[in-house]
Amino acid sequence: MELRFYNTFTRRIEPFQPEVAGQARMYHCGPTVYQRPHIGNYRAFLFADLLRRVLEANGYEVTQVMNITDVGHLVADADEGEDKLQKQAEKERLDPWELVDRVCAQFFGDLEALQVLPAHHYPRATEHIPEMVEMVRSLIEKGNAYRVGDNVYFDVHSFPPYGELSGNKVEELEAGARLEVNLEKRHPADFALWKSDPDHLMKWDTEFGPHGFPGWHIECSAMSMKYLGESFDVHTGGEDNVFPHHECEIAQSECATGRPFVKLWMHTRFLKVDGGKMSKSLGNVWSLDDLAARGFSALDFRFLVLRAHYRGSVNFTWEALKGSAEARQSLVDLRGRLEAEARGAAAADDEVVERARGDFAAALADDLNTSAALAAVFELRNAFLKEGLAAAAAAAALAFLLDEVDAQLGVFETAAGAGALDDAQVEALIAARAEARSGKDFARADAIREELQAAGIVLEDRADGLHWHRA
Ligand code: AMP
Ligand code: ZN
Repeated sequence: MELRFYNTFTRRIEPFQPEVAGQARMYHCGPTVYQRPHIGNYRAFLFADLLRRVLEANGYEVTQVMNITDVGHLVADADEGEDKLQKQAEKERLDPWELVDRVCAQFFGDLEALQVLPAHHYPRATEHIPEMVEMVRSLIEKGNAYRVGDNVYFDVHSFPPYGELSGNKVEELEAGARLEVNLEKRHPADFALWKSDPDHLMKWDTEFGPHGFPGWHIECSAMSMKYLGESFDVHTGGEDNVFPHHECEIAQSECATGRPFVKLWMHTRFLKVDGGKMSKSLGNVWSLDDLAARGFSALDFRFLVLRAHYRGSVNFTWEALKGSAEARQSLVDLRGRLEAEARGAAAADDEVVERARGDFAAALADDLNTSAALAAVFELRNAFLKEGLAAAAAAAALAFLLDEVDAQLGVFETAAGAGALDDAQVEALIAARAEARSGKDFARADAIREELQAAGIVLEDRADGLHWHRA
């Protein structure tokens, strides 16, 4: 089925045409790990997971990268001001690296609870400083960036398409910026690639000076291109990432390589809480723990997000979450009733099931229309409750529910799902995989690798043998 997605760049829904047929290389802006990500962040990460699942269900081989921003993201996404990580570390009187480790553990735990499939790479900014330095150097050499003391800025006038993604005009940006002019910059709209600050806690001694750290935008350019190549297929984020973050990424990446950076830009709309922005002062910056404390599972939240289209608005309220938990439970009940009804019968074609299957796939192929896809599932449920289904049709409906609905929406709790494997089970599976490989049963070996991957186990083939760790 042809997949069609809305491209923020062209402002149109377009057929999905990756650079290499059958493959999809995507990068998602990940969390800034200064505090446990909130449910708004998870809307963005669930959207990325949905996209991956739908691509895979349609036969694409997906490579998915999500970065971890552990330095350089300044408050208010600005060029001046405090680093979010440093500010929080100082507030908690903690070493920033400890803070990063704590938040990363919370983040990966949350992803597991949400049944987000592990991405193939989770690069950390602090582990890619040489790649960033090299990119900044090449931008200076090409005349797109300039040094002022130990700071380096990108010259937006050197890249005429600057502003095309967000619809901003450089002159208007500059007029708006007049009040906060940084006299170091040649133009007010220029942005920092590298910053110097002797008081910064996380800093590197490089060719630009002894106390430097990267700007947030250069991090995502350097890390995405390292893992996906100079041109790749999809880049996602929340709507706030369009400007300045993604606009700046395009400018610096295309100037550095001379090639188009990303074909398809996709952004999810912000999650609202109680009709507005989440804010600390309102006390409504909820985490998954807050949801659990009120008796809701992470999957109930996942369901709430998926009930709406990713570009549509979602307003989180406790009432809405309760409604989503009930709707999700009704699918869990449906699954149980179908299992009872199917009684081991072989699945056979059934008109009602086929219609649901077709409508479901078509809805997701149409710019990930999850609300329409779920409507197709609930129509099947209503038909079943009203008319019943013969055993063979119930078996077909059950297969649809598990192999298509759950595979793409991930709404059922998987017993063998993420995190359910203990160390001994992991070792046993790894041994079984090695055995399958030596017996040239590659299909079985691949299936085991996928099972491990789905459980968040990362395998690493190193010179001294195979190592594994939890993502
Ligand atoms: P940050 O941790 O601020 O770097 O944000 C991580 C990701 O979460 C980014 O892609 C943001 O666009 C996204 N994000 C932040 N707040 C929300 C929200 N309320 N709704 C949806 N996405 C969000
Ligand atoms: Zn980013």
